[in-house]
This record gives sequence, structure tokens and C-alpha cells, in this order.
Amino acid sequence: MNYYVMTLFPEMVTDGLNTSIIGRAAAKGVISFEAVNIRDYTKEKHGHVDDAPYGGGAGMVMQAEPVCDCYEDLCRRIGSRPRVLYMTPQGRVFNQKIAQELAKEENLVFLCGHYEGIDERALELIVTDNLSIGDYVLTGGELPAMVMIDCISRLVPGVLNNDMSAEEESFHDNLLEYPQYTRPEDYRGLKVPEVLLSGHHKNIYEWRRRQSIRRTFERRPDLLEEAVLDKKEKQFLEQLKKEKEQGETE
Ligand code: SAM
Repeated sequence: MNYYVMTLFPEMVTDGLNTSIIGRAAAKGVISFEAVNIRDYTKEKHGHVDDAPYGGGAGMVMQAEPVCDCYEDLCRRIGSRPRVLYMTPQGRVFNQKIAQELAKEENLVFLCGHYEGIDERALELIVTDNLSIGDYVLTGGELPAMVMIDCISRLVPGVLNNDMSAEEESFHDNLLEYPQYTRPEDYRGLKVPEVLLSGHHKNIYEWRRRQSIRRTFERRPDLLEEAVLDKKEKQFLEQLKKEKEQGETE
């Protein structure tokens, strides 16, 4: 997987991604990322890439030409025209399902806006996907791009030491992950659940599934609609619903 981030602040992206698991994956060559400076493509002698909006209003707008020229140059270098993901609060809200779909691509381009955003004509010409990280407004698209790159990379084979861990995590099956414990067995009187010390794999698996279902029911019941549960697990969920109803009427 190769990521190309079109930005006015390349060091923000490379500094942020060069650490920990993502940095190590890049060093191993499992993924690669390049921050491309849109400012390198301006023809303005003072290096300006933005101007006042037509029709008036607050702030500045990034101009279409440097953005489009930056993308065309990238395409020439790569030898293909990869998907362009525009980071925008107006986009589809990013989630694990979108990450799984994007992880199948070989090259991805992230376009980061700043100021009031980017001239609409550049967006019309090059953007394939509008993506947001949530219903709030940030100063630029760099943090959203880094959030998405981090999330997608965890799904690229070879990035995590243990590929199973992405499969058991929250959202994978439309369930949140079960609670995790490590040494010591007793911390301030709070004990690790007995079953986890038993070494009995089937019991541990069942306990974890139930904990996942309980957590999802309590914290994100909306996810359960699409969760795949077996017969016993469905019965357990019904029991949780009944307990809740009883609690509410008492
Ligand atoms: N004027 C724009 C609007 O109201 O839709 C917001 C511009 S915002 C201040 C500047 C840039 O930050 C955007 O072009 C976008 O790249 C990025 N951005 C801000 N919030 C975001 C979010 N929630 N998700 C993704 N990108 C975001």
C-alpha cells in the first residue's frame, strides 16, 4: 500500500506517521507514504496557493491550479490515476468498513484542505471520494488523513505483528471488543476474571464473545443490528434486553 498525501504542511504528516507501528511498517517496506507539498506547484512568485473567495466572505480558498497540477504530476510519476480522497467535514463519515474497502487499493491519494477549503473546480476534476472523520470542523485535512492512514494500515498484511488482533478488535464483526487484562492478577483488590486464568480455550472464547455482546449492547446498541450471532448468543442478547427492561420498570 502506497499513500500520497497532498498537503501544504508535509512535515506535519511525515512527523506524525513516522513513529511506532506505522513508522516501523514503512521502514520494513510493507507500506510507504509520501507527503507532497502542493505549494511546490504554484506559479505565483511569492508562493501563494490561496486567494479570497469570489462573492466575498471570511477566509481564503486554496486555488485549483496548484492542486490539480500536483495531482497530475503525481499520476505521471506513479503511472496510474489512483483514487483521491478529499478530507472534508462534508464527506461520508469514515468507519472500519470503509477502511476495509480502501485497504484493498494499491495506491491512495489523500487531499488535505486548509483555510476555507479548496476551489470547487479542483474537487470536481480530481476527487473520487469525500471523507470526513466526524461532525466537527478542524483547521486542516492532515489529521483526518493521518487517522485514516493509521486505521487502513492496520489492515494491510504484515503491518501488525499478529494479524489476528485486527480480526478480534472492535467493529470487526459489528461488535466491540471484550475487556482485556494483563499482570498482576490482583490490582487494588480487583481480580482478573477466573476464566481467563483457566487455560480452557473454549470457555475463554465463549466468555469473550458474551462480554463483546454485553459491551456492544450497553455502549453501541446500533451496531448489533448487523452483528452475526449464533443461536446461543442471540438468546444471551434477548436475556440482556429483558434484564434492561426489568431494570427500567423497577
Ligand atoms: N469551509 C469548510 C466547510 O465548512 O465545509 C471547512 C474548511 S476546514 C476549516 C479546512 C479543511 O480542514 C477542509 O478543507 C478539510 O480538508 C479539513 N477538515 C476539517 N474538518 C474535517 C473533518 N471533520 N473531516 C475531514 N476533514 C476535515
